[in-house]
Amino acid sequence: MTKVLSDIEIAQQTTLEPIVKIAEKVGLTEDDLELYGKYKAKVSFDAIKRLSKNEDGKLVLVTAITPTPAGEGKTLTTIGLAQALNKLGHKTMTALREPSLGPVFGIKGGAAGGGYSQVLPMEDINLHFTGDMHAITAANNLLAAAIDNHVHQGNALRIDVRRIVWKRVMDMNDRALRDIVVGLGGKVNGFPREDHFMITVASEIMAVLCLASDLMDLKKRMGDIIVAYDLDGQPVTARQLNVDGAMAILMKDAIKPNLVQTTENTPALVHGGPFANIAHGCNSVVATKLALKMGEITVTEAGFGADLGAEKFMDIKCRFAGIKPNAVVIVATIRALKMHGGVDKKNLQTENLAALEKGFANLAKHIENMRKYDVPVLVGINRFLSDTDAEIALLTKLCEDYGVDVALNNCWAEGGQGGLDMGRKVLQLLAQPKTPYKPLYDVNDTILHKLEILTREIYGGDGVILEGNAPKQIAELEKLGLDKMPICVAKTQYSLSDNPALLGAPKNFKITVKDVRVCTGAGFIVCQTSNIMVMPGLPKVPAANRMDIDENGVITGLF
Ligand code: ADP
Ligand code: MG
Repeated sequence: MTKVLSDIEIAQQTTLEPIVKIAEKVGLTEDDLELYGKYKAKVSFDAIKRLSKNEDGKLVLVTAITPTPAGEGKTLTTIGLAQALNKLGHKTMTALREPSLGPVFGIKGGAAGGGYSQVLPMEDINLHFTGDMHAITAANNLLAAAIDNHVHQGNALRIDVRRIVWKRVMDMNDRALRDIVVGLGGKVNGFPREDHFMITVASEIMAVLCLASDLMDLKKRMGDIIVAYDLDGQPVTARQLNVDGAMAILMKDAIKPNLVQTTENTPALVHGGPFANIAHGCNSVVATKLALKMGEITVTEAGFGADLGAEKFMDIKCRFAGIKPNAVVIVATIRALKMHGGVDKKNLQTENLAALEKGFANLAKHIENMRKYDVPVLVGINRFLSDTDAEIALLTKLCEDYGVDVALNNCWAEGGQGGLDMGRKVLQLLAQPKTPYKPLYDVNDTILHKLEILTREIYGGDGVILEGNAPKQIAELEKLGLDKMPICVAKTQYSLSDNPALLGAPKNFKITVKDVRVCTGAGFIVCQTSNIMVMPGLPKVPAANRMDIDENGVITGLF
C-alpha cells in the first residue's frame, strides 16, 4: 500500500501560483491587493467597493453532525466542494475561518482543510498568517489596560471594580490564566482584583470583526462594547474610556479579507475565526459578502456540529448580514456515527453496521434541524480509508429512507475530483427557488424563551435551568433594555445537549445556563452552559510536542 501523506506533506508538494495570478481569476489586479509575501494578500477597500456592484452569487453552507475531537472534515469538504464546482464549470469561491493557535498546538490541529483539499500556504495560515489574531488580541488588551488605568487614575466613571466584565485574551490554550489576580505589587500597580483570560477567538472583538460591515461599523461596534458596570449598576462602554478610535487603528488591516489559494489553485478567502462552541463560529460577513460578489457560488463553513455553528450562522450571521444559504451540506462520517451508536473511540476503525444504524439518529436530528430554516439539505459522507463498502451502502440507504439527498465525498483523497457527485447534487439544490429568510426565534422574545426555543427545537431537550448569577443577570439585562438580541449559546461541541457524555440524539434533558452576558458590540447575548471553558487547556501530550523545523525552514508535524 502506498504511504498516506500527512496534510503538511501534501501541502509542501503542491506548487503554488503567485497570489497576483490567483487574484486575476476573480477580477482583481495587483493594485487591488495588499501583498503579504508572494502567496497571501489582503483585498483593499477600493476593490471591495468596486466589486459590491456585482450581482450576488449563490451561497452553500457546510456544517456537520456532532463531531469527534478530531473534527469530521467540514473545512476540507468546504474546500473540496468548491474545487469540484470549479471543475464542473461554475466559478466558485470559499469563505473560511482563520485558525487559532490554541487547537493548532492542542489536540485538534490546524484548520486549513486536509488531504487534497486544503488552503495554502497551510503553515502560514495555521500560524501567524496576516496578523489578524494579533491585531484582535492587541485591540482587546488595549481596552483591558485602559480599564485598569482608568481606575488607577482616579476612576472618574466610578467603575465598580467588582463588576469589570471585560477580560484579557491570548491566542493560546493556557489553563493557568483562566483565573488570576492583577494589580499586585503596591500602589503604582493599580488596584488588585480578580481577572480572567480568554482565548482570542472568544473575544467580543473577534465577533465584532466578523459581524461588522466595514471599518466605520467596526469602530462603532467596538465603542458600544460594555466593559464594566458603575457603582449605580449602569453600563460603562469602551467609548466612555475613549479608546474606540485607537482600537480601530489596531484593526484597520484586520478588517480586510485575506486572499489565498486551495491545493488546486482556486481562490479562497480566509477571514475571522470565532470558535462555534464559545463564540458564534462563522467567518467574517465582509469576506462572505465579498466572495458572493466574486463567484457564481460561494461555499462557506460554520464551526462544529449544526447545533452550534450552523444555528448561529442562521440566527445570528444571516440575520445581521441579510443573507441566507441556498443549500446546506451536512458532513457525516461513519466513524463519528458509530461513536454516536455507542462504539468506544478506540474501535471506530472496525466495521460495525448495528452501531452505524443506531448512531444515524444524530445525523437525522441535524437534518431535521436544518430543515427548520427552510433550506434544502444534502448529506456529504466524508470517506475515510477505514470505511467499508457495506458501511457506506448502509449509510447511503439510511439517508435515502429518511428522504434526504446524499453524496459520497472523497475530497480528502482526491481533491475536487472526489467531490464531483456531491457537486452535481449541490447544483440540483441550487436550481430550486430561493425561500425567504426564516430564523428560529424572534429577537424581541424574552431571553429565557429564546433559550427554551433553542433547547427544544435544536438540542432536543425539554427545558432550561438558570443557575448561579444567570437569573439576576437576565433580570438586569431586561431592566436595561438590552435583552432584544439574538442568543449565542456557549455549549459543548460533543453533544446536542450541554453534557458531552450524551451522544446520539439525547432526549429528556435540560440545559443549564450559569452565566448570561451581553455583547453590545457584536449585538448578541452570550449564554454560557455549565461545562464550557472560554480559555481551553492543553492535553497531556499536546500536538506541539510532535512539531519541528529544520535548518531549511521546513516544518514537520503541523498535521
Ligand atoms: P472540521 O472542519 O470539521 O473540524 P477538518 O476539515 O479540519 O474538520 O478535518 C479535521 C482533520 O481530519 C484534518 O486534519 C483532516 O486532514 C482530517 N480528515 C478529515 N477527513 C478525512 C478523511 N476522509 N480521511 C483522512 N483524514 C481526514
Ligand atoms: Mg473546520
